[in-house]
Amino acid sequence: MGKYNGALCRLCRAEGTKLFLKGKRCLTEKCSLDKRSYPPGQRGSRFRYRKSDYKIQLREKQKVKRFYGIGEKQFRIFFKKASQKKGITGENLLRSLEMRFDNILYRMNFAYSRAHARQIIRHGHLNINGRKVSIPSYQLKLNDVIEFREKSKKNENIKAIIEDVKGLVEIPEWLLVEPEKQSGKVNSIPNRDDVSLDVEEHLVVELYSK
Ligand code: SF4
Repeated sequence: MGKYNGALCRLCRAEGTKLFLKGKRCLTEKCSLDKRSYPPGQRGSRFRYRKSDYKIQLREKQKVKRFYGIGEKQFRIFFKKASQKKGITGENLLRSLEMRFDNILYRMNFAYSRAHARQIIRHGHLNINGRKVSIPSYQLKLNDVIEFREKSKKNENIKAIIEDVKGLVEIPEWLLVEPEKQSGKVNSIPNRDDVSLDVEEHLVVELYSK
């Protein structure tokens, strides 16, 4: 999939679930999905077709990809690695997506959305365990510590974002955040229940197992 440049809210409406792509707006009455909970397009509100198994599986995959904001090529790499690990492939996949740097920064309440987190990371504002990391897909591990770099902590723009984004999303228990230090730690490995997306991941596995 190439980069999607269209209206983000259409993606939520296509998947029929909130993907939280627009930061604060997603939590207000301005959310398009709350206002129009039918698929986009002229026929979306009036017609419902019986979907084939393939289409259902495809939709679940698109939902996961769009939620985490990653392209097809990278998603396939994640899937391949997940299938090579011990345990249930679908759960391995979701866990490795949760452990992405951009997802964790967002879930720690240091960015408005995962896309915004990617931007902050790419601009080199953060350290992991004291070393600069600017790769949004970087996989964090247990006990890894994320911290804004000293120079970034003094950056007025960053300070304003951190202040404004405070309390935007509920921080999951597997993350320990110290907002005053502008840092956070991976306190435990997330379980399936810690994934906030309503998805049937086994359908994604079935799709890729054909
Ligand atoms: Fe999705 Fe609603 Fe956020 Fe738009 S405002 S991106 S529809 S959750």
